Amino acid sequence: MKRRDFLKAGAIAAAASAFNAPKMGAAEEGGVSVKRYTEIGKTGLKMSDISCGCGSLPSASLVLRAIDKGITYFDTAPDYGKSETYIGEAMKNIKRDKIILVSKFCTPLPYPSHLPLGTTKDQYIAAVDGSLSRLKTDYLDFVFVHAIGEVDKDKDKELKRLLDDNMLAAYDALKKAGKVKHLAVSSHGPTNMEDLLMAAVDSGHFEMIMPAFNFMKFPKIPDVLTEAKKKGVGVVAMKTLAGAKDMKLDFKGADFAQSAFKWTLKHPEVNGLIVTMKSVADIDNYLPASGQEFTAADERILNQYAHAHGSSYCRTGCGLCEGVCENGVEIAASLRYQMYFRDYGMEKRAMTSYAQLKNKAEACLTCTSATCAGACPYGLPVAEMLRDTHHTLTFNI
Ligand code: SF4
Ligand code: SF4
Repeated sequence: MKRRDFLKAGAIAAAASAFNAPKMGAAEEGGVSVKRYTEIGKTGLKMSDISCGCGSLPSASLVLRAIDKGITYFDTAPDYGKSETYIGEAMKNIKRDKIILVSKFCTPLPYPSHLPLGTTKDQYIAAVDGSLSRLKTDYLDFVFVHAIGEVDKDKDKELKRLLDDNMLAAYDALKKAGKVKHLAVSSHGPTNMEDLLMAAVDSGHFEMIMPAFNFMKFPKIPDVLTEAKKKGVGVVAMKTLAGAKDMKLDFKGADFAQSAFKWTLKHPEVNGLIVTMKSVADIDNYLPASGQEFTAADERILNQYAHAHGSSYCRTGCGLCEGVCENGVEIAASLRYQMYFRDYGMEKRAMTSYAQLKNKAEACLTCTSATCAGACPYGLPVAEMLRDTHHTLTFNI
């Protein structure tokens, strides 16, 4: 065995033994751990309230570490780099029925590679078979129609992707074969997020929705959450850190992320949330919020963050300025990829995703009309931010 492989195997084995061995719980060891589990809708599946977004998963051992801390829900996708492969590496040390594993109807191309309208039933099935093979498991607990509202600005076209007959037929076949248990849908806009998620809830086909949801915006999301709860549809929130801006703020020892999580989780319709976990430190920083009440101190922290970043955070899922640019620049998508680069530390994904946009912010470099000025109700200096985005995401400096 090569030294590198030996070290890798050793790291996995060490984490695995921590998971399998009879042991004290993490809390008894003095560490942090999950404190609350909630059923997802009416599926009978109970998830850890703070769960693992695997979009930037660095290793198999981090999966085992997360499980050791009580995390039961793992969100991955074929186009999240080596995420599915790492989970597959960890799988031999995982009791499969103790975790909830979700993936997406996507292909392993550069992000985003959501299966578009026109995909055949066989192609949908092949996408899931690919995930199962990489994940080294027999089934997914949920498969998602991913990022509804992102592929096309035309609501009707995205509605067709949401309720595509080929997708539904593939899901039925996958379910009968025992390869998938439940169907879900995610959305971070930028267009029609709330309307499309409401359509998903009303359709009766979906057992869970995953909206972008945080303390900075989303006036219409409460209606969707209420309806989802009424119909027994589960809700897992994402993008809960409102941009996760670089924080030079002094919260006097308190942690902004924990306050943001507690805000999201105080909503009774929300079963849990996912957050990108890239390190053991992330797990240790995030889990103290599990099962905790939202307090007046949390409110103060969130107000402080909103005051500092409210005019630089492009609200994920907003899209109110879409269509104002005469050059067709994809404003919200560009600014989201800038957030991935600058605030999430996902540089590669941000740049490859931006490269795939049809209408990048290059036009902003020479634009004199600036019809986008004043289009953002939150006061973002859109033109200036887009010029910066284009420089950053293309290394055009
Ligand atoms: S720039 Fe402003 S209006 Fe446009 S999507 Fe972002 S927050 Fe919404
Ligand atoms: S600066 Fe010009 S090109 Fe860029 S988004 Fe605004 S109007 Fe469009």
